[in-house]
Amino acid sequence: MTDILDLPDWRCLDKRQDDAGTELHVEYTIDPDFCLKCGVVGNLYKHGFTNTTYLDCPMWGRPVRLLAKVRRYKCRDCSGTFLQPLEAIDAARRMTIRALEYIQQQSMRDTFQRVSEHLGCDEKTVRNVANEYIEGKDDGYRPYLPEWIGLDETHLNKVMRAIITDVKARKPIDMLPDRDKSTLRRWFGQFRDRSHVKGLAIDMWAPYRDVAAELFPNLPVVIDKFHVVKMANSCVERSRIRLGKAQGKKVNLAWKRSKALIRMRLRDLNDKQRFNLDMWLDNEPDMAAAYRLKERLFDIYDKPKAEAIKDYDSFANDVPASLKADFHELTRAMKNWRKEILNYFDHPITNAYTESLNGVAKVANRMGRGYSFEVIRARILFNDRKPSARQLRAQRAAQPTAAQETMRCCDLCKGLFYVAEVETFSLEHFLPKDKSLPLKYPEMLVVCNLCNSRSHKSFEV
Ligand SMILES: [Zn+2]
Ligand SMILES: [Zn+2]
Repeated sequence: MTDILDLPDWRCLDKRQDDAGTELHVEYTIDPDFCLKCGVVGNLYKHGFTNTTYLDCPMWGRPVRLLAKVRRYKCRDCSGTFLQPLEAIDAARRMTIRALEYIQQQSMRDTFQRVSEHLGCDEKTVRNVANEYIEGKDDGYRPYLPEWIGLDETHLNKVMRAIITDVKARKPIDMLPDRDKSTLRRWFGQFRDRSHVKGLAIDMWAPYRDVAAELFPNLPVVIDKFHVVKMANSCVERSRIRLGKAQGKKVNLAWKRSKALIRMRLRDLNDKQRFNLDMWLDNEPDMAAAYRLKERLFDIYDKPKAEAIKDYDSFANDVPASLKADFHELTRAMKNWRKEILNYFDHPITNAYTESLNGVAKVANRMGRGYSFEVIRARILFNDRKPSARQLRAQRAAQPTAAQETMRCCDLCKGLFYVAEVETFSLEHFLPKDKSLPLKYPEMLVVCNLCNSRSHKSFEV
């Protein structure tokens, strides 16, 4: 049987609601059997009690406090008095251990301010818990050098930071304060033995290639497919915007609405979409040419290497003069990074995980404006989540999934959780029909595991 407290050996005596949240009157049911002062067993008697308030995890959208009736004992042997030792409580921080863990988890995902609002505590409390958590994690953290190194970057607090990943394991290994050569040299320099490294997957940032050539001569450096096709998509988009503007407001808006069509592969369009695309491109030779160039670039990746190289090398020449400017970014990159892009055909590894990680960093960045580099780094490295099957599929399709999209907000505690950590229930599943709710709730609730075990069919004390 579940209860609202859901703490072993604790009993809930009463429940009060006020504007500040829910107060549960509780007691711990286990008496100590020996004196904490002298150690003598079985010679204790109860000697009144004292009330102490502890912070707990939020429930039903409100902060929860536990008002604990803590017994005092006196020893017949040494006349010493002491308070009942309590399980599941962090006495120093005056909160339940699960509240502490909740803050640790949520502070890696959400802003300190929001976490403090959900719990009904000071923002400083959240910051202190988070900083201590980060320090503890950091102390035990030793980055390693993977077989396939991923090098990418993310824009954070106005600086580009390098992110190093284990490409094969799809794991972030470290985040550096910047992406300068000296910083990278120092990071790689901590590993004396680099002989097991098989190659590097980087994005098109020349210092990455330089450092790779310096420290890993003779190893393949790969620009993965994702980075190149992404560029092709943004070139077509450039054409779409430029040509659309010239068409006047109305047509431009229609083009904007249909822009998803030109992003898609021709082979993935259904009959209706294909019809709409034809309608569009039949009358727009420049737009049609831009779309064909994009498709052609994607097609290169489906071909055997020898054929692909032929197509690759004639690509720039086949860009019509009217589209040269729109496609310049791509053709220049294809020229400057030819070797690395073509290395993909021998080593079809993808650093798409770094890209989705970039999404995490960006979200973290947006949420925590002004957060220190250390906090964001911790959020990326220590937010120990396994990618779900769906996320992995998305990554394989080289479609980076923003962390936002895969996070759900628990309707009961307002915390952020990954899809695998929540379930959906109907509201009736939790509440007797005649009970009024503290807040308005939708018919279907997204609920985290903790809230589920605490609220499940047992709203009453
Ligand atoms: Zn004693
Ligand atoms: Zn919850």
